[in-house]
Amino acid sequence: MVRAYLGLGANLGDPRAQLAGAVAGLNREPGIRVVAVSSLYGSHPESGAAQPDYVNAVADVDTDLSARALLAVGRRLEIAAGRRGERNDPRELDLDLLLYGDEIWRQTDLTVPHPRMDRRAFVLVPLAEIAPEVRHPVNGKTAAEMAAEVPGQAVWRLAAGSEWAKL
Ligand code: AMP
Repeated sequence: MVRAYLGLGANLGDPRAQLAGAVAGLNREPGIRVVAVSSLYGSHPESGAAQPDYVNAVADVDTDLSARALLAVGRRLEIAAGRRGERNDPRELDLDLLLYGDEIWRQTDLTVPHPRMDRRAFVLVPLAEIAPEVRHPVNGKTAAEMAAEVPGQAVWRLAAGSEWAKL
């Protein structure tokens, strides 16, 4: 059993419903148990393009699946939510594998820890909420430390985890 953290985001359709659907979908999947979900947060799109704001959250899961299999489940859930676009396009659901235990993978189809997680407040703020002590296996910092260091990016809390994610 491995403890993994997934970053969820959406900025098209009904983002809250899509995120709640993704959490329910993860929990229904054999070999995945959702242990905790963060509050829901709002953030501006990274690209600075004219796109709706994002709704973001982080889920903490226990899993028997490999990192690659867990990511494949994430891709399936993205497609089920209606995702059509390419990287950086607005999307109905984006599911990133942030951390998979202490494993380090550096392949194009599997990069863990997620290569940009240490620079993204919309990942670090929700991660630090549910797992402040979890450590990044490459830089050795905790989620709380990384969240405190990330330069000012607006991230605002929309709803408590207990309110939005029906597990
Ligand atoms: P994106 O369009 O940003 O969702 O990127 C998805 C692509 O990145 C897929 O081809 C994934 O296989 C690949 N990828 C590699 N590592 C990760 C990761 N840790 N989380 C999410 N996608 C990843």
